[in-house]
Amino acid sequence: MSRTAELAESLDRLLGRVAAACRSAGRPLESVQLLPVTKFFPASDVDILYSLGRREFGESREQEAAAKIAAVTTPEPVRWHMIGRLQRNKARAVAGWAHVVHSVDSARLVRALDSATTDALAAGTRAEPLHVLLQVSLDGDPERGGVSAADLSALAELVSGTESLVLDGLMAIPPLGADPARAYENLADLHSRLLRTHPGATALSAGMSGDLEIAVKYGSTCVRVGTALLGTRPIN
Ligand SMILES: *Cc1c(COP(=O)(O)O)cnc(C)c1O
Repeated sequence: MSRTAELAESLDRLLGRVAAACRSAGRPLESVQLLPVTKFFPASDVDILYSLGRREFGESREQEAAAKIAAVTTPEPVRWHMIGRLQRNKARAVAGWAHVVHSVDSARLVRALDSATTDALAAGTRAEPLHVLLQVSLDGDPERGGVSAADLSALAELVSGTESLVLDGLMAIPPLGADPARAYENLADLHSRLLRTHPGATALSAGMSGDLEIAVKYGSTCVRVGTALLGTRPIN
């Protein structure tokens, strides 16, 4: 089977899964975005997914993303989401290509992204503010990334006060070994609390290949799917 036929088939199957999850959750189909995660896969796969109608893509490492973005040959530009852990010293590079960053989890990173985006806007190397999601830690382990629930509202305030960042919502990855339903229920609760003070922060980035149905049940607006669409990665 050609790679195009292979990707068309897995995309169809996935869109079917998302549609079924929306139906059982009683949610409109348009309320959930399927974000293909193309890390470890070549720019040619992005080109194929573009031909199949996809216009937004997720990457998790700055250098790999920058190289891939330079290599894609889509007729129109696409939107890139940075979903992986981000060091402050990569903020400037990411502000050069990302439309959305899902993994913002510290005040230092907020300041670095804001200043990089402000500079990029002034230099004309980007045209729009940078949309951000705050990554929440659901197990309180700072080693795995994410802001603690206790520090979430202060970080949201900080983003709201920046010049060039827009607070879109929250993102989380369930802790290893955790029950995803409990994790996503907890996340949904944090999201509804955030919405009281930040009504524009409607995005909830949650759910991957293995658990997207559960995430949609608990309000996900964006499922980030790699393996179920592109296949098994060489390393993780
Ligand atoms: C790789 C990755 C995904 C996709 O995971 P799959 O299980 O392959 O669908 C989702 N979110 C983040 C943050 C990732 O790094």
